[in-house]
Amino acid sequence: MGPIRFLPLLAVLLPVHSISQEPLFGFEPDSSKAERALEAKFDAAINPQDQRAWLQKLSLRPHHVGSPYGLVNAHTMLGLYRSFGFDAHIETFQVMFPKPKTRVLELLGANGYKAGLAEPVITSDPSSRYANEALPPYNAYSKDGDVTAQLVYVNYGLPKDYEELDKRGISVKGKIVIARYGASWRGVKPKVAAEHGAVGCILFSDPHDDGYGQGDMYPDGPWRNGYSVQRGSVSEMTLYPGDPLTPGIGATANAKRLRLQDAKTITKIPTLPLGAKDALPLIKALTGEVAPADWRGGFPVTYHIGPSKAKVHLKLAFVWKLVEARDVVAKLKGSELPNEWVIRGNHHDGWVCGAEDPLSGQVALLSEAKALGHLVKTGWKPKRTIVYCSWDGEEPGLLGSTEWAEAHADELSQKGVAYINTDSNGRGFFGSEGSPVLRKFITEVAGDVRDPETSLSVLARLRARDLATGAPDAKKRATDKADIELGALGSGSDYSAFIQHLGIPALDFGYGGESTGTQYHSTYDSFTWFTRFIDPTFAYGATLSRTGGRAVLRLADAEKLPFDHHHFADTVADYLKEVVDLTDKERKDAEETNKLLADGTLKAAADPTKHYHLPAKQAEVPKLKFDALTAAVARLKKVVETAEKPGQTPASWNETMRLAERQLLGPGLPGRPWYRHVITAPGEYTGYGAKTLPGIREAIEARKWSLAQSQIQVVADTIDRFSSFLETRLGG
Ligand SMILES: [Zn+2]
Repeated sequence: MGPIRFLPLLAVLLPVHSISQEPLFGFEPDSSKAERALEAKFDAAINPQDQRAWLQKLSLRPHHVGSPYGLVNAHTMLGLYRSFGFDAHIETFQVMFPKPKTRVLELLGANGYKAGLAEPVITSDPSSRYANEALPPYNAYSKDGDVTAQLVYVNYGLPKDYEELDKRGISVKGKIVIARYGASWRGVKPKVAAEHGAVGCILFSDPHDDGYGQGDMYPDGPWRNGYSVQRGSVSEMTLYPGDPLTPGIGATANAKRLRLQDAKTITKIPTLPLGAKDALPLIKALTGEVAPADWRGGFPVTYHIGPSKAKVHLKLAFVWKLVEARDVVAKLKGSELPNEWVIRGNHHDGWVCGAEDPLSGQVALLSEAKALGHLVKTGWKPKRTIVYCSWDGEEPGLLGSTEWAEAHADELSQKGVAYINTDSNGRGFFGSEGSPVLRKFITEVAGDVRDPETSLSVLARLRARDLATGAPDAKKRATDKADIELGALGSGSDYSAFIQHLGIPALDFGYGGESTGTQYHSTYDSFTWFTRFIDPTFAYGATLSRTGGRAVLRLADAEKLPFDHHHFADTVADYLKEVVDLTDKERKDAEETNKLLADGTLKAAADPTKHYHLPAKQAEVPKLKFDALTAAVARLKKVVETAEKPGQTPASWNETMRLAERQLLGPGLPGRPWYRHVITAPGEYTGYGAKTLPGIREAIEARKWSLAQSQIQVVADTIDRFSSFLETRLGG
């Protein structure tokens, strides 16, 4: 998965001379001088040519989970780690991974059409020749099915789109829906469609969002052509990620497995993705009401909602088998604190050849490992143990990382210091998400990494962009030279099990935004495409290595872990304010709707010739009691201020900081107990996007008031436990 962070940005020409240059380094104590010298040596050992050669080799042929070339790649990486001096092995899990056997999509009737469902060879791109080894376009964990029904267009297929349909009296019950990709994680779309009674779901890449509406199409330019399809998982990852048959435990050979029919993460309705060329005849076949303005995309036709007069036939069947996921795990043992682990990961499986997603990040990670190995060969030893992980099976649903984290849960809960993730990478700006406790740390790292195309640090470049074109809050942060914004972690890459299931602080970062174009999850995400359009010189691959490696070096060698909960305490206070405001807003909205209903305003405003369905009378929104949480958040702020100060001995500081985030694990979110972190989780209806204070916020959004009230207590208790932990360990 991957590049959700970097939506296409408008190119901004910055007058570089007008940006005041900050000195990268201020006054330095001796210990820090030694660290700088070590980092300079590390930087010098990063070679973009290595990355080019590895990318060319690893992306040569399709390498999805369980594939023959995936196995070749795992052994290639194993050999590299060993040659760098790491103690490396391949750890294998047996995971349920469906492969398509039958894919049929046809429009019936006079203007019938049979979808081609294939990505043809492009002669200038050698990787596109391996269709016989590649997974054809499909959505993994769609259920089998054979349905024939009328078609309804549902825009992005999110709950609010169905509210629009309800207003118009259009039902999808018994229909096949067609939804464009975008605006949420794809797995949410078949879930919401099934909840509304649809019997099938078709996803497509609209050229307005992802195709000629953005720029020139491949092979002339970098953008998706009409044949290029976004594959992807549609498992219900918001229930739990990883192998569908082994939630909560490692998918080892002898693991106790669910029966396939009992696995709750498989979709309820058959689901298939299309490229623009196969989608157009279906969009053309829609009749009925014209779609609202913001539902219309880039096809040269009038978009109608439907239902279509003609029926659509969708038939899907899969081979449901266990395959091997092969994680490559490589360690450098710590010389002083071997039982404290700094973990660094990036996945190695792709949907097809996967040059950008994931190999651009993978080769940067391998570069780091080589440079660390070089430091070891010249006499350096890390204080803490460093664990490099090349994950398999990320694309179907974070399989390799989740199974490894579940299989080693006890050890990781004891030893895990932090998990640092990367995925796709390209030219452009530094982007990051992560645990608030690491915000100051990652800001400092970004301040010490040079942007390869300017003379600035990547932090200064980010601030320049925010000053030039940022939203008001981003501008203010840049003006104040405040720490970078570190958004909350939702899901979409391999950090999920570490932060949300095990409570290990995590970071996820990469570069992007200046390499335009995407072939996300298509055959054309290839070495040829990547080196033409995304990071031709691997300068940003090398920059990612210098960022990831620096973060690893500093965490591994810190006398005292560079963790800081002040920002965490402020962030939780902000989240609390948000959920209080959300409840008030829900109450006002309900009162307003009921008033306009009762006095006839809504009826008077509606077009009398149209079927405009008035909303139902809204139930009253009760006043929730937030006192317990308000008190817990106030106490948290005080405890952090008194406990986190200089003078703590390294031993007690390190142990406390290593285990602090674990205290934020609660009993599990309502209905999805795998997600245990009470502060952040992927949203049930956003997928990749994070929901903060998810237990409370989602109960409010679902108007489950007694659940919201009990979740307020759960979160308050958990935060209190966290505060007591800091207080007893560090004094306060
Ligand atoms: Zn990825």
